[in-house]
Amino acid sequence: MYDIIIIGGGPAGLTAGLYGARARLNVIMLERLSPGGQILNTDLVENYPGFPDGISGFELVDRMRSQAENFDLVIQNEEVVELELSPEKKVVATNKKRMETRAIILTCGATQKKLGIEGETLLTGRGVSYCATCDGPFYRDQEVAVIGGGDTAVEESIFLTRFVSKVYLIHRRDKLRAIKLLQDRAMGEEKIELVWDTIPLKILGKDGVEEIELKNVKSGEVTHKQLKGVFVLIGTQANSDLVKGMVELDKDGFIITDNTMGTNIPGVFAAGDVRSKSLRQVSTAVGEGAAASFSAEKYLEGFQ
Ligand code: NAP
Repeated sequence: MYDIIIIGGGPAGLTAGLYGARARLNVIMLERLSPGGQILNTDLVENYPGFPDGISGFELVDRMRSQAENFDLVIQNEEVVELELSPEKKVVATNKKRMETRAIILTCGATQKKLGIEGETLLTGRGVSYCATCDGPFYRDQEVAVIGGGDTAVEESIFLTRFVSKVYLIHRRDKLRAIKLLQDRAMGEEKIELVWDTIPLKILGKDGVEEIELKNVKSGEVTHKQLKGVFVLIGTQANSDLVKGMVELDKDGFIITDNTMGTNIPGVFAAGDVRSKSLRQVSTAVGEGAAASFSAEKYLEGFQ
């Protein structure tokens, strides 16, 4: 019987683990792959306090992991396949075993949304990518498209200019969602061409991406662009399938919590990108991870 099982190893999970392990609780963190989450895809984190020159997502997570492990946090690479959650009993089944715990912290994060258009799935890994930081260097001196208009799409378009000859930043409206600072930077980049009011219809190619079919949503005009890469950066969706039907979710599938990070089930907490909220950042994730761990500890003190 564990005190706390943390599910998911991004910044929220690692912080919850750090606090739990430091409080000398019997806590483990389960992570399907290696700890890090989405931040591993971020080339440079510029807005996490304490790093005036920025820090790579990889290094930031590596430091968080070392810090938690210094307090003996146990991290296991196991995929959680099923949960049994009730006020009285909490069971976590992984691909390897079943475990009981008094409290659970859900830090399962979010994943990149898909466009759902022809060619996207077929050409994923062969020109269609969801991570510019991971795949950008493969497109040296080539033309690529970035789909989206939020902070991620704009930030990653700027990053791509280091390698590619041209970025078509394709947005479905005539105004970017990204913050002004990023908009100004993108507008000042010679290699970025903004394509407004446009959606992709098809991604075409045989062994790799060759062409994208686009539609102007105002004029209805359909055009084609020859290019080698399509980066789909249109936001994220919650990794909450495991708790669907048990834990209360908002209309988009994100977990609803109170301000102690508690869900509708006593002893079940959530933190980070999987939580219903307005701002998804490393800085918000770590604060919530700390709060969830603290709340779980308080819950355990009253646990019979
Ligand atoms: P986001 O803010 O949800 O933006 C998604 C963008 O994709 C929007 O411009 C949206 O268009 C567009 N989009 C959505 N579905 C689409 C579809 N089916 N077809 C075409 N376009 C579509 O997502 P995000 O940029 O990944 O950012 C997520 C969160 O992380 C935000 O809170 C953001 O501030 C944060 N973030 C922060 C930083 C930073 O501070 N350095 C960096 C990256 C991300 P509409 O605008 O028309 O809805």
